[in-house]
Amino acid sequence: MENSLIRLKDVSKFYYNKGVIASGFSKVSLEFNMGEFVAITGESGSGKSTLLNVISGLDTYEEGEMYIDGKETSHFSEKDFENYRRKNIANIYQTFNLINSYTVFQNIELVLMLNGTKRRELKKKAFDLIKKVDLYKFRNTKVSKLSGGQKQRVAIARALAKETPIIIADEPTGNLDLASAEEVVKLLREIAKERLVIIVTHNYEQVEKYVTRKIKMHDGKVLEDKQISETKEAALPPQKKQKNISFGNLIRLGVRNTFNVVPKFVLLLIVFAFLTIAILAEYASYEKNNYLNSISGYNWVFNNASNNRVVIKKADSQPISDEELAAISALENVDSVVKNDLPLDNMVFLNDENYNYWLNGSAVGIDTLQGEPDAGRLPENANEIVVGLSKDNYFIQGSAEEMVGLTLYGENDMGEIDLTKPYYIAGVKYIEDSPMLSDKYGSMLFFVSNDYLNNYNFELNRQYSHLRVLFDEKYYDSDQYSPQFMIIPNANVDPGCVVVSYNLNETVERGYVRGLPLSITNKSLYYETGLDLEIVDTYSKWNIEDKLGIPYDEEKEGAIYINPDQYNSLFATGTFQSSIFVKDFSDEALQPLKDYLDANGFKYLALTDALYIDDMAIMSNIFYTFMTIVLFIVLFFITYFVIRLIMKSRNVYYTTFRMLGGKKSSIRFIIILELVVVASIAYGAFMVFLYLNYAGYFVVPFVDNMLNYLTILDYVILYLIFLGMAILIGNKYASKLFKGSAMKAFRDEV
Ligand code: ADP
Ligand code: MG
Repeated sequence: MENSLIRLKDVSKFYYNKGVIASGFSKVSLEFNMGEFVAITGESGSGKSTLLNVISGLDTYEEGEMYIDGKETSHFSEKDFENYRRKNIANIYQTFNLINSYTVFQNIELVLMLNGTKRRELKKKAFDLIKKVDLYKFRNTKVSKLSGGQKQRVAIARALAKETPIIIADEPTGNLDLASAEEVVKLLREIAKERLVIIVTHNYEQVEKYVTRKIKMHDGKVLEDKQISETKEAALPPQKKQKNISFGNLIRLGVRNTFNVVPKFVLLLIVFAFLTIAILAEYASYEKNNYLNSISGYNWVFNNASNNRVVIKKADSQPISDEELAAISALENVDSVVKNDLPLDNMVFLNDENYNYWLNGSAVGIDTLQGEPDAGRLPENANEIVVGLSKDNYFIQGSAEEMVGLTLYGENDMGEIDLTKPYYIAGVKYIEDSPMLSDKYGSMLFFVSNDYLNNYNFELNRQYSHLRVLFDEKYYDSDQYSPQFMIIPNANVDPGCVVVSYNLNETVERGYVRGLPLSITNKSLYYETGLDLEIVDTYSKWNIEDKLGIPYDEEKEGAIYINPDQYNSLFATGTFQSSIFVKDFSDEALQPLKDYLDANGFKYLALTDALYIDDMAIMSNIFYTFMTIVLFIVLFFITYFVIRLIMKSRNVYYTTFRMLGGKKSSIRFIIILELVVVASIAYGAFMVFLYLNYAGYFVVPFVDNMLNYLTILDYVILYLIFLGMAILIGNKYASKLFKGSAMKAFRDEV
């Protein structure tokens, strides 16, 4: 025969194992043709399985040449062999290797799907094949419930479904009783009439009556090759076009596999539910932390940390209007409202000329004083104040009245704000339980005129500002510590103009700065302002007095001078953060206020709710972000390993799938689809659970954060992150599955 279906010429197979070379078989020359039913026999270890594996393209060979349909295969890559197997070989195994969780029909259908059979042909084709092996009655029975003989008949039907010219069976009757074995062999005999069937058997007598040829192996060599009966030369079946599994069928398989093995499904669902809760909870508390930090701004050192205090800001970062504050003041539980609350958290220190008195406290508006002073009188001038203090104030016990009439000088706790204006104490008021009174170090309240308070506020705003100058395309920080670009208001400068030091001339290419633009920006706690100016003049040591009306000051060399009104406009004095003091800070009493604030576009922080507000808030924010990311990564790996463990029970499925001709990409898709479906179910179920909490059907405390701090957009983004994790996990798992060759994976699993 000049063109055999398979021809081996001096083929040898060696195994290399840790430096030791073992021979599988050597110098084997054989030919096989359509219509043959070949039995290979021989003692254990004689090389039968190795030979079958090489013919199947599951193992490579090292010497000689194997021809398939006249074509050489020694140069084949792993991928070529995968194609070769898909086109030519169907395997039947001693251990069946069916998918036990599938029904008979589904096992056959799977192979048909992998062949690219169209959906409407699937059923008929599968049923025909099942009838052929006489299992129609059992078509919807799970394979795990069948007897050994029945299983092997399913395997035969499955091999037929592959529609390959060659069927290879390694000890197909090894696990069967005599009667079943006989049936299986007869069936193979029928099939062999229009294919090539090669089987390995220990028990040659059992198959003797049916086979057309006997090959006996011994120690890796062919000892005997004998024709037993005539074969009719069958024609090669027409080569089919190689088709891939359709997308629709991939989806059907993915979904089927999701629910197919119930315990696996439940385990995966639990893992993904855990992942959902962990991610949502972590992200929600991250958002909460951000929120707390955002509401407290840079002003996180709450000097006044009274439980009665509620700090508010507009959610849109706009100023708070007087009308809004008036409306809040009128609410039932509200005791008082402090319009600009920066002074509450910045201590003012006052002392008299002789340093007999050292007072410290917060400056508040005179309008918040309730009732008449206990000593002295109400202020009559802008520079008069009333001191409010507890009767048993640690520092000045008993001598409060003596303070009336004192002149005091002050600075705030930073020592940077010029408050050298004198304060005359017009009166003293005993205050026992005002929430505004900070409980720090015998702190007091200084009731000052609105003029003073506005001034002070302005100074504080300035202090919390971050000024930058843009000049000659470069940015410079401007502050009161260095003269370079220090910004000073000067009445001689017109709006829109700026006067700079003549030294700047040297720094620009053209040699003079007059006419150049200069911008100033201020990024403050709550707002951003800016000025676009033009340099109209320069000053020097000799002409500054003439031009700006001020004496030369070496320490301010490099400062820039701008119009005072414009200077003031940099520090917008609107109200951006206020504090409400409530009468009752219990949860029930606070809730209506919170609801009101929510409904009216405020962000708020009730200090009684604040978990921690300390100097570390910003550090903690960075740390928190870092920890959140680390936690997500850790979660990813924990989930990956747990899922890998769960999926391990399915490895047999995937390797079988691969042996049947399923492609890498198909398996990858099916695994990912399965994980995505379970992940989505878990996420969706949790969303329903959240909704039920939200709607009040039941209330589980730990979901509070999620309901309060996550928006719809967050849920969508987290879902996408979640899906991304599922896809990554599926991908990683699929890659691991395909690390070795098909045979290696198969040997490991079966
Ligand atoms: P049979 O199927 O006839 O019992 P095999 O084909 O399984 O025999 O084995 C033939 C020879 O190849 C034996 O000597 C066996 O030890 C060796 N062999 C088989 N598989 C491997 C392997 N994976 N690694 C190393 N040696 C192997
Ligand atoms: Mg064997």
